[in-house]
Amino acid sequence: MTTSTDVIVVGGGINGASIAFNLAKRGLKVALIEKDFIAAGPTGRSSAIIRQHYSNEVTARMALRSLRIFQNFDDVVGGDPDFHQTGFLLAARPEDVEQLKANVALQQSVGINTRLVSPEEAKELEPHLSIEGIAAAAYEPESGYADPAATATAYARRARDLGATLRLGTRVLSLQVEKGRVTGVVTDKGTFGAGAVVVAAGPWSPLITETIGIRLPIKASRHQVAVYRRPAEFERHMVYAGFADEIYIRPETGHLMLVGSIEPEEAENEVPNPDNFNERVDFDVVAEFSERVARRYPVMERGTSAGGWASLYDITPDWHHILGALPGVEGLYCAAGGSGHGFKLGPAVGEMMADLIINGEKPDADINMFNFRRFVEGESVSGKYEYSIVG
Ligand SMILES: Cc1cc2nc3c(=O)[nH]c(=O)nc-3n(C[C@H](O)[C@H](O)[C@H](O)COP(=O)(O)OP(=O)(O)OC[C@H]3O[C@@H](n4cnc5c(N)ncnc54)[C@H](O)[C@@H]3O)c2cc1C
Repeated sequence: MTTSTDVIVVGGGINGASIAFNLAKRGLKVALIEKDFIAAGPTGRSSAIIRQHYSNEVTARMALRSLRIFQNFDDVVGGDPDFHQTGFLLAARPEDVEQLKANVALQQSVGINTRLVSPEEAKELEPHLSIEGIAAAAYEPESGYADPAATATAYARRARDLGATLRLGTRVLSLQVEKGRVTGVVTDKGTFGAGAVVVAAGPWSPLITETIGIRLPIKASRHQVAVYRRPAEFERHMVYAGFADEIYIRPETGHLMLVGSIEPEEAENEVPNPDNFNERVDFDVVAEFSERVARRYPVMERGTSAGGWASLYDITPDWHHILGALPGVEGLYCAAGGSGHGFKLGPAVGEMMADLIINGEKPDADINMFNFRRFVEGESVSGKYEYSIVG
């Protein structure tokens, strides 16, 4: 058994890669263990929208911190996440406006570049938009999207440059615990020891912690993305999300757009086995989203379908991550449960987890809000929206 590793990180998605990088950067000996390849799971299938609109202060600050890293990625991390600053519009119905105003004020108070715009101003910013049913919108000029596989790969590469070992094609079968302390992992390629283990395996995380009797409240829920080709005259658009439409829309290279649902009912699409589910988009979803898109962007009546895919959200009961130490086992940590909005927060999660692992728990740290204990003590993270990816 190898014992010279400080920390084993299980999972090569955005969280595992970002945590491995941040630990290696701070001088720890790290091994990243991934059953397939970097970004093989939901990270690689993510719509990777990077917006700042959250209704609680901690996640808003995490989104802002992460945005600054995406904007300065080559300096802070190294490499290219292919970040596109398109701008982001969140459109509200009349009944959402008061809450939207309060959220925008909260976001401005933490330094986020966002403002409330009228439907007419939204139309000026986004000329192809129909403002039917829109009472106001939040506009974030600095938001956009990135390439999720390129981002996770850049983090993993930089972790390796800083001395981390990447064990790809290696599946963790169980956690090893001795006298109340984690000692390593058993994999299909042998046993690896470490002083600490971080489970960052997305929807597979509960399967890993169950090997030592810890039940994480994370559901694997199928989320579909439909892709459409824009007509030639629809050259560019921002990232858009709307409460009336209950969809998000973001541009994609090749004159395409990606469309997904923001309905809280997404949590009901639970799959029993994250290794075996329908990865294709359903025909009726393609048809339904195309109607909603054409209502919001009438020019899309001349758009065409270009397929799509399905992947998994790892959803917790309050749609927020589980970050931090797991109870009862010294040295065991979790960074999972991004609940369909975790890509954009990955850069901040990596920094926060590295800080926690190196310096230990601090009473006033932001990360405490995401501790697993909240589900035992009944203190779910509260946002101002009904629970969903909007947060
Ligand atoms: C279709 C879709 C669209 C999304 N859109 C957005 C968006 O627009 N904006 C946003 O912010 N977020 C979005 N999300 C959410 C975001 O992508 C996820 O929260 C984030 O990518 C999760 O990253 P992760 O590192 O926690 O986990 P994952 O990406 O799930 O990575 C976990 C890794 O662990 C590996 N693994 C699993 N079990 C084992 C094992 N036993 N041994 C070794 N390795 C193992 C897996 O192979 C996988 O690579 C979207 C998600 C989906 C599915």
